[in-house]
Amino acid sequence: MKKKLIAGNWKMNGSAAANAALVEALRAGLAGASCQMAICVPAVYLSQVAQLVQNSDIGLGAQDVSAYDSGAYTGEISAAMLRECGVRYVIVGHSERRQYHGETDATVAVKTQKALAAGVTPIVCVGETLAEREAGKTEEVVKRQLAAVIHTNGHCISEIVVAYEPVWAIGTGKTATPAQAQEVHAVLRAQLLAATPHAERMHILYGGSMNASNAAELLAQKDIDGGLVGGASLKAPDFLAIAAAA
Ligand code: 13P
Repeated sequence: MKKKLIAGNWKMNGSAAANAALVEALRAGLAGASCQMAICVPAVYLSQVAQLVQNSDIGLGAQDVSAYDSGAYTGEISAAMLRECGVRYVIVGHSERRQYHGETDATVAVKTQKALAAGVTPIVCVGETLAEREAGKTEEVVKRQLAAVIHTNGHCISEIVVAYEPVWAIGTGKTATPAQAQEVHAVLRAQLLAATPHAERMHILYGGSMNASNAAELLAQKDIDGGLVGGASLKAPDFLAIAAAA
């Protein structure tokens, strides 16, 4: 049985003191958990959190990676740099980056490629806005977003993690129903199956207001292999309860 993957996305939250307390509580509470766990932290804290998670089962993740390898790209952080900091996962194409930082399907595809080349597992986010859902375009949008990544990454595609994050469910307290989420996950699985014989062992995570109360029902769906958790990953009891439900 494939283990579920529960990944926290801290977004722009944390402080040296808060990170230490949170990771200590996660380490204490995680013993015996049967899922994989990862935390994706702000870049400036990667080195700190790398130390904090040492000799634990918590994987270290970043929230973005440059589409370039090195050179005159002020403010950017390369995949090789992430790797050197002990990073195992990197979120790519989060809707907040697509929305506020102009990331296109093409950028996301190249960032995915850079992460894979450096040996960092990209968690590639796809998801529709409320307007797109209401216009009946959900399937078309997520397929277009994933197709760009598949096209650019060829047979390496089996090494990515996919996260379905409906934009209207992020930070809103509105969750997709398990049936709504499963419907999209099945579409994504079929698309991966057409691209790689390894699609069944790949992880497709759900993200969007996942919390301690709704996690079990979502994670019970056939094609939901874990969660990408925002707000609830900042509180140890909530994040551990999601992990326990996995
Ligand atoms: P919330 O869990 O806060 O809705 O955030 C989801 C998300 O964007 C994870 O990447």
